[in-house]
Amino acid sequence: MIEKLYRKDKPLETVKAVTKNRCNRCNGTNIQEDVMGVYYCLDCFEYGEINDQMSLYRYERAVPFKRHRIEMDYHLTDLQKKASDFFIDCYSKNQIGFLQAVCGAGKTEMTYQVILQALNEHRKVGYILPRVAVLKEVYKRFKKHFIETNIAALFEGNKQHDNANLVLSTPQQMIYFYKEFDLLIIDEVDAYPYANNPFLERLVKKATKQNAVLLYMSATINEAFQNQISKKEIRYHLVPSRYHKKPLVVPKFQRIRSTKHLNDFLVNWCNRPRQSLVFVPTIDIGIVTNEFLHLNGVEARFISSQSKDKNQIIQSFRNQEYRTLVTTTLLERGVTFPDIDCLLLWADHRVFTKETIIQIAGRVGRLAEFESGSILLLSTYITKAMKAARKEIIRMNQANEMQAV
Ligand SMILES: [Zn+2]
Repeated sequence: MIEKLYRKDKPLETVKAVTKNRCNRCNGTNIQEDVMGVYYCLDCFEYGEINDQMSLYRYERAVPFKRHRIEMDYHLTDLQKKASDFFIDCYSKNQIGFLQAVCGAGKTEMTYQVILQALNEHRKVGYILPRVAVLKEVYKRFKKHFIETNIAALFEGNKQHDNANLVLSTPQQMIYFYKEFDLLIIDEVDAYPYANNPFLERLVKKATKQNAVLLYMSATINEAFQNQISKKEIRYHLVPSRYHKKPLVVPKFQRIRSTKHLNDFLVNWCNRPRQSLVFVPTIDIGIVTNEFLHLNGVEARFISSQSKDKNQIIQSFRNQEYRTLVTTTLLERGVTFPDIDCLLLWADHRVFTKETIIQIAGRVGRLAEFESGSILLLSTYITKAMKAARKEIIRMNQANEMQAV
């Protein structure tokens, strides 16, 4: 169902928006009473004020019945096929599944068959992606391959879901749905802002039907999921290989002894005849690094969430118009460059978690014809996260080799 704050036609259900101890819009319990004795919810306030004087009206979201089909000019690899079968098996047995697949494994395509099956059974299907840039990219791919299907992409700025059989959405937009989806795929569960965010988890839960099938996908796996998997509450499947079956590039560590050492190292690195992404922990460090490189004759550009011309910066890097792109963790996932190296400055900074480092390692050597990329972590200290990331990449590569035998 779809939930509205205003009454249009006759709703299927009407509920009080907020009670003394609970908000029905976000299922939160962070309720405050104001001086007038009105109760309102603090958790979902940014979606517009909501209080106990208001109602939520729930309507059926009608979608046209269609015969859906996939048109694709390539086949899934054996590993992708296995993962696709895993999802279909979870779906037909009504079980929750977790697929761990490294970056570049072609995760989206692994969901096609299960989505197709659910759509043809006239089920409501949702696909959650935390990052808008990735969502737009995935939307294009679905449009191309699901030629008969009405597909919506919901994010801040686009809330149009009329007639959509398949809804791609950020987790934030799930607030407008109530027990709507029979099948929900949740991609990049390890990514900001979804990871460790109980508010968004609540919204996603609220949007799914009681017996819905949830399928999670991620390159890394956190403790909470690990626990649920070991308790057999969630089924698990690992795709250790990328589609070209090449191992992931293992990060190397380099200790920094002094600022001069760092500066010299950086300039030498950027002057090599290869393109590289230089990851920095903060926007301030990015600005300073970019200026420093320019002063030392290195053609570089800087990109962060604040950059206004992100697409242009990325496109001209792709066109090899310059060699060094300084970036915050903005480019940690979702964007593919054919043949690059990665350098992490201040890799011991807390923004570089195990998950982030693994994602960044996935930026390197992503296409079959290029595999010589390297990833180097520069830092004063070697952190737990750095070691854990390295260990997990080695483990995934070993699992990959075992499967290849
Ligand atoms: Zn609320």
